[in-house]
Amino acid sequence: MELTSLSVTDLQARLRSKAVSPVEVLRALEERIGEVDPKIQGYLSRDFDAALAQAKVADVSLPLGGVPVAIKDVINVEGEYCTCASKILKGYRAPYDATVIRKLRAAGAIPFGRTNMDEFAMGSSTENSSAHPTFNPWDQTRIPGGSSGGSAAVVAADEAFAALGSDTGGSIRQPAALCGCVGLKPSYGRVSRFGLVAFASSLDQIGPFSKTVRDAGLLLNALAGADLMDSTSLNEPAPDYTSLLGRDLKGVKLGMPKEYFVGGTDPQVDKAIRDAIRQCEALGAEIVEVSLPHTSHAVGVYYIIATAEASANLARFDGVRYGHRAADPANLLDHYGRTREEGFGPEVKRRIILGTYVLSSGYYDAFYLRAQKVRTLIRRDFTNAFEQVDAIICPTSPEPAFKIGDRSDDPLRMYLADIFTIAANLAGICGISLPCGFADVEGRPLPIGLQLLGKPFDEANLLKIAHAYEQSTDWRLRRPVI
Ligand code: GLN
Repeated sequence: MELTSLSVTDLQARLRSKAVSPVEVLRALEERIGEVDPKIQGYLSRDFDAALAQAKVADVSLPLGGVPVAIKDVINVEGEYCTCASKILKGYRAPYDATVIRKLRAAGAIPFGRTNMDEFAMGSSTENSSAHPTFNPWDQTRIPGGSSGGSAAVVAADEAFAALGSDTGGSIRQPAALCGCVGLKPSYGRVSRFGLVAFASSLDQIGPFSKTVRDAGLLLNALAGADLMDSTSLNEPAPDYTSLLGRDLKGVKLGMPKEYFVGGTDPQVDKAIRDAIRQCEALGAEIVEVSLPHTSHAVGVYYIIATAEASANLARFDGVRYGHRAADPANLLDHYGRTREEGFGPEVKRRIILGTYVLSSGYYDAFYLRAQKVRTLIRRDFTNAFEQVDAIICPTSPEPAFKIGDRSDDPLRMYLADIFTIAANLAGICGISLPCGFADVEGRPLPIGLQLLGKPFDEANLLKIAHAYEQSTDWRLRRPVI
């Protein structure tokens, strides 16, 4: 097996036995990136020398000692570019480390490479990047999903052992599903958001991409925990997320939400999910039908709340403190107006306009306030379901990866890509996507993702369920031919 195809767990074993050194690992990775990234274009930038300096002094006895981790371009790494794939932040370098980066470093990991994304994490295909699209490793005429499409693609293409992304409405789980890797969205408050460029602050969470479920647990061990710099982070110690991993699902109750199995899902995706559910049953799980009655409102509520928060969060990009600044402004208003007109792409502008509208006087009650009330109902749906079951099992994405350009002119169709992932963010619960099969599309295999949703702060159990299923199949062993 190629060094770069190894999981984090297997890589660590080699590092600790001194079969390979952190410097050799980094060199092998850089070589692999040189080979395949021209076709995938998952990275926006990389600072090899900075990573090499860390690899030379890496302590392989630490939990992630000597393991390079790719970082979505929305998370600050001191001294490196942090552009959110936006023209408005072109050339901007982060002045400090996000808490997750500080924690990764403390665990011995080496942040290496900035991954492509939809501008300011708004999108489901990575086509909204101002730099370039990223291509799906399984079929380079197709999108990798989004908004963390770069992170998913580089892990799936063995250009990274693991990566960080952010998930506001599905941006970790959906690209993980479409690229065929594991993506974990922790519960809201499980991981500090300090140093994550904010999109929608009540929904955003940072989480890992990896090749295996166990690796996701290892990464979450490093990332989780309270942070004085983020008052929404949970003030309780995090458990060891690998401690419950086992082989069977005896005594586990899994809920199939009836509203998620009503047709409209691609038949090959539907079949793979139903096969996965049967597999979980064979492993000892009890399958129960549950109801999430407010499901049909989730996308609408999300696009009110997320855009409202985004319109406020993005007000800071006005050319005074950060990034791009319009040339020769006539006056202050002209300076703000032209800077934002030139700096933001069309989807970001659409969201700022939508968000400003739903917060404006006269419309606030009808849209924003109402959406908040329906959000409470959606959260309550999950609370009720979790009284009957340990976790919910369903598809991550209603279809496999679509063609580049296929949805670009139809924002509403693009928004529907997240129909199964958005509710988890509104409810604040945790969710994971992992490979559960392949669709045959035009004679090519395209990955399908199984989604498991867990109770708030119950990531340990979620990982246990995901791991037992994963280990009973060999989907994770298949690799794209690039
Ligand atoms: N695709 C969704 C959106 O466009 C979710 C994005 C995300 O999770 N960052 O908003």
